[in-house]
Amino acid sequence: MFDLYLFDLDNTILQIPNPSEYFDNILNETLKKLTKNPELLPNREKRNKFWFSGEEYIKLLESWGIIDGPYFWKFFDEIDYEKRMTLSEQGKLCLYNDVKNVLEEISKANKKLALISNTADYIVKFILEKFEISHLFHETFGLGYEKDQEVAKPSPEGILYVLKKLNFDSTKSRAIMVGDSRLDVFAAKRANISACLIKRDLNKYSSKNGWEVHPDYEIEGLDELFSLEN
Ligand SMILES: [Mg+2]
Repeated sequence: MFDLYLFDLDNTILQIPNPSEYFDNILNETLKKLTKNPELLPNREKRNKFWFSGEEYIKLLESWGIIDGPYFWKFFDEIDYEKRMTLSEQGKLCLYNDVKNVLEEISKANKKLALISNTADYIVKFILEKFEISHLFHETFGLGYEKDQEVAKPSPEGILYVLKKLNFDSTKSRAIMVGDSRLDVFAAKRANISACLIKRDLNKYSSKNGWEVHPDYEIEGLDELFSLEN
């Protein structure tokens, strides 16, 4: 086993129905709320570029007539939070079936657990409390709208912050980041820890063309974590 298990939240632990529609709707609503030039608002095809724009996202927002980057995330997070509350009340937002067991097993084996998310910190905390898994994590790292799109994955900063807080010593211990996207894989490799891509279904990521780095492991369910050779 590894000594430290770091998990992504969305679509690794928490199942968000139709995630690309979900996040595009939030993006679209946020843009509509903040724009002073509705005629500049982008269509879906243009909005899709947003998720891969990295640190260029502010320029992209500007080209769409949105000038205030930090406020953008404040509104984005508020809409995200509202939607998650509604969906969880309707029972449409849930943990994957294997999550509780696997997290508890890791915890019982006296290994450490942490969570590294690009979602707002207060939303991460709300979800962990709501699904009663908060106590299983030694550290969590989510974003806050004032600091930190620049520390969002694929930056390794969140992982490095948590490793430091947990006094992780790479000469004595092994750590693994488990996530469903290439952002998770890239962040893990930049932080010099193992990367595990969780696919949840076979067809996801059948091609990884254009990926900057590749995962050390690929799994379909979390219980496979226990059989990884390290
Ligand atoms: Mg994810």
